[in-house]
Formats: sequence, C-alpha cells, structure tokens
Amino acid sequence: MTETDSPTDGEPRDFIRDIVRDDLASGRTDQVVTRFPPEPNGYLHIGHAKSICLNFGIAREFGGRCHLRFDDTNPAKEEQEYIDAIIEDVRWLGFDWGEHLFHASDNFEQLYQWAEHLIQAGKAYVDDLGPDEMREYRGTLTEPGRDSPCRGRGVDENLDLFRRMRAGEFEGGACVLRAKIDMASGNINLRDPVIYRILHAEHPRTRDAWCVYPTYDFAHGQSDAIEHITHSICTLEFEDHRPLYDWLIENLPVPARPRQYEMARLNMTHTVLSKRRLAQLVETGRVSGWDDPRMPTISGLRRRGIPAAAIRDFAARIGVSKSAATQEVAALDACVREYLNRHAMRRMAVLKPLKVVIENYPEGGGEMLDAVNNPEDAGAGSRQVPFARELYIERDDFMEQPPKKFYRLAPGREVRLRYAYFITCTGVIKDAGGVVSELRCTYDPETKGGNAPDGRKVKATLHWVSAADAVKAEVRLYDHLFNVPEPGAGGDFLDDLNPQSLEILENCYLEPALKDVEPGETVQFERLGYFCADADGAPNAPVFNRAMTLRDSWARAKAKG
Ligand code: ATP
Ligand code: MG
Repeated sequence: MTETDSPTDGEPRDFIRDIVRDDLASGRTDQVVTRFPPEPNGYLHIGHAKSICLNFGIAREFGGRCHLRFDDTNPAKEEQEYIDAIIEDVRWLGFDWGEHLFHASDNFEQLYQWAEHLIQAGKAYVDDLGPDEMREYRGTLTEPGRDSPCRGRGVDENLDLFRRMRAGEFEGGACVLRAKIDMASGNINLRDPVIYRILHAEHPRTRDAWCVYPTYDFAHGQSDAIEHITHSICTLEFEDHRPLYDWLIENLPVPARPRQYEMARLNMTHTVLSKRRLAQLVETGRVSGWDDPRMPTISGLRRRGIPAAAIRDFAARIGVSKSAATQEVAALDACVREYLNRHAMRRMAVLKPLKVVIENYPEGGGEMLDAVNNPEDAGAGSRQVPFARELYIERDDFMEQPPKKFYRLAPGREVRLRYAYFITCTGVIKDAGGVVSELRCTYDPETKGGNAPDGRKVKATLHWVSAADAVKAEVRLYDHLFNVPEPGAGGDFLDDLNPQSLEILENCYLEPALKDVEPGETVQFERLGYFCADADGAPNAPVFNRAMTLRDSWARAKAKG
C-alpha cells in the first residue's frame, strides 16, 4: 500500500493560519516556529493528532519549522515508555522535527535562575500555606483572594528559602514558590500562581538532580521563548492562562516573545479522549494495552489498520476553530474507508467457513485463476488464486430455507464464485446435531471467469477460498469501545463500555497471498471489510484485525432502531 497526501483540495484556511499569514506579511515574524508539546504521561490519541497536524502542517506550509518538545515537568507521572511511544507515533503520522527535539527539562537550570530573578525583583515569594489553606485564600470567581501571611517576606528570606528548597531541605509539599501578581485579579490564574513545587521523585532524564520542579505555567511559555517559538498553539482551557503566560514573558529577561493562541480541542463520539481515562482503561484491563486496536490512541489506530494518511485527512477536514464541537466517529471512519478503498489490495478470506465440494470438478485437480488486486487502481495488477474441488464459503452466504430477499446460495440455486465459476447447490449434509456441515455443488465449466456464454444471470457473487490451499488464521473483529455517543455523560464512563467490542474468530481461511502480508499492512477482504495484519501472528498462523467494515453498519443499525 502506498501513501499519498490527503485528497483535501486547496490550501487549508483557518484563524490561526490567517494570523501566521498576517504576521509574516507584516514582518512581525520572519520565520514561523511552532511546537508540539506533549507531556509524557500517556500515549498520544487522535486529539493530539489534530494538534500535531496543525503545528507541523503550519510549519511545512509557511516554510518554518516545528519542534517536538516534551513537557516533562511532573516526574511523578512521566515515563520513558511514553517518551518512546510519542516519538514513534509522531513519526508514523508523517512528521519530522529534524534536530529540533527538546525537553522542558533541558531548561531546568535556566528556569530556576529565572525564578530567582523574580524573587530578586520582588515578584515571587516562598509560601508555606498548605494546599487547603492556599485554596481558601485564593477566593472564588465572585470573591477576591486574600494575601497569604508569607506574601510580605523579604527578598533575602525568599532567596534563602528557595535555595534551601532546591537543596532538598524540605519535605514534598512543605512550601512552594509563588509569583506575586494580584490576589484581587478577576482572573484566578493571576492570584499569585504557584510556579515551583517540591517533588522528591526521580525524573526520567534528570534523575535525582532536582527536587524542585517548575509548574506547567512557568515552564511552558519560557520554554517557548528559549526555543524562539513564534506561535504557541494550545487548547481553549488555556485561554485564561494567557494573561499569566504574557506576564511571565514580560517580567523575565527571555530571549524572545512568543504568543499563545487557543483552539478548540477535538472531542469525538463513542470514545474518550483524556489520557487519564485512557490510562484507566489500560490499568483496569478493560483493553489489552495502550495499543489495543479499540483505543483512540495513535498506536491503537495504527494497530487496527487505520492509515496515517486517513488521520491527516481527517484532521484537515475537521479544521481548526475556536468553538468546541464533537466530531462523529463516523467522520473519521469515512476518511479511512475513502483512503483504503483507493489503496488497499483486495483479497479473499472466509471468516465463518462452510465447506463446499464441487462434485463434477476433477478429483485431485486444480487451477489458478486471475483475480484483480484493486478495481480502483489499474496499476495494482492482478494475482493468481487457486481453485479446486473443495472450497470454503461464508456460512452466512447459504440458507437452507431462504426467505424472500435472500439471493445467495440455497438448495437448487445458482450463484457466482468471484473470479471463478457459476455453481449450483445440489445437496446439503448435516452433522448429528442437524447443523449444516457441508454443501454439495456442481459447477458449469463454461462460466470460467464468472460469466455465462449464454448470458444467463445470477443474483449473487460470493467470495471463497480453496480448502487445500487456504491459510488458517485468527481474525479479530472490533467494534466501538463504547456504545453511547457520550461515554460517562450519565455517570461512570466505564459503565458505557460496549461488551461486544471484540469478537475473536479462530478458524478463518485466507487465500494463500495473505500468508505474506507484513504486520501493519491493511488489505480488503472482499465483501467483509478492511483488515490489518497483526504482529501477534506467526508465519503460518497470521492474525488479522478488522480496521473497518465496508459500510457504516453502525449508522444503519441505529437508523433501524
Ligand atoms: P489529555 O487532556 O488527553 O490528558 P493533555 O492536553 O493533557 O491531554 P498534553 O500532552 O499536554 O495532553 O498535550 C499535548 C498537546 O496536544 C497540547 O498542545 C494540547 O493542547 C494538545 N491536545 C491534547 N488533547 C487535545 C485534543 N483533544 N484536541 C486537540 N489538541 C489536543
Ligand atoms: Mg496537558
């Protein structure tokens, strides 16, 4: 499968790109520099993909660059496993930061010095109020805050205390460093926010070098400035933090003046996009891991067989705005189907097999038949599929007593086997329990390739595989992880899990070409959907994950009620 760029036409336009365009035109910005700043406390999800596509996309479109920066300021929750997974996922999505890989922790010494700078300017103080008291002193949206008794500490005392915090003299939580801004501000973020806290935890990169760590607010804007970021894009929850972002930039001797812009975060139906909740699914064993194919993580989507190009296309189509909206998961599915329809190789696979013996086909005989690889792509060519006397068809494609609208195989009825022949069912064999175990059929040798020279028609075309040549496989069928559009809306989101989100079929039969599919490659099983080879498979025992059904059966089921 080859990847091409998204089919979305024209240049993307949105309010952030308009700002960038204006800044370049007016000379306020010479070269646009953006960044994607994940906190390595979980795996990336499709919401992060929106931010990645935006930040790297803008850099690419406007001849700038985009940094990958780990926002690693909370060692209590961050791990190397997450750092590695994030790097792999951003690369897989098709983006490259070149040599511009950074960590907020690269700046710990500089950030510490800037904190001392604020103390020396009388703009920061060490506070030993406990968290509950501090909350109480902070006031509410309608009431101003009150000054902490520590607010009046002198510069020397603050400096001494802060240095002793760094030296490890105090327990975690014993005191914090706060910026001295305005306890009466209408914006609670400006009521003397905490900028440093004590954490006696090993950091994945700086190990035990530090026991004081900057808060997100203190690390983020200053890291942007150090990296000369021009446009620092975040989600709307940070709009109220912007005055603090700007205050810190104005009050510190930083080398550049980045600006923060906010956009709506991506929300999607039938899923949760919060690392905390995703971590809960992993920790409670509801899924097999962060890369479970039902997870909305990049690694889960990849493992399910969702191509990176389809995710980029989805991000381009949903665009960027300031108004929060929830996207239908069906919109992502549509991008995936559109991409895979154009790019995925067609193959035949029987998931719930029923044996068919073609009685008038020579015993021990066999032949190779030509089958088209992708009718949407003439360049994809064709392949040879073995045909023989014993075949498997899909159990669902046969009914002994067919109702009116069932046109597929039934006793006495003729259907087409794709790329092969017309066959007619002449006999039904049942096991002791009365379950159909085998069909007897005849074929018409005149219909080779699937057409009758006398022009007679059949109403159904079935897929099949030759029993002797088939590769036995396990196929995992996935459905939405949640069965309501807004998981958790009525209480605990775990109560909304779809109990039927995974069905494992262990006795599937695949055409021989599927033996050689590399893990990660997605093909179309004719009439069934798109399936991706999983790394759990072995050379003669492949495992496939269903990436997507061919049509939106979920929407149809819902419409039917
Ligand atoms: P979560 O809320 O899932 O825990 P987060 O915002 O804490 O995510 P970060 O690692 O801090 O995760 O996010 C890195 C970047 O990705 C940030 O710039 C953030 O704004 C952006 N981002 C995170 N979630 C979304 C989302 N749902 N839609 C768009 N951007 C997002
Ligand atoms: Mg965050």
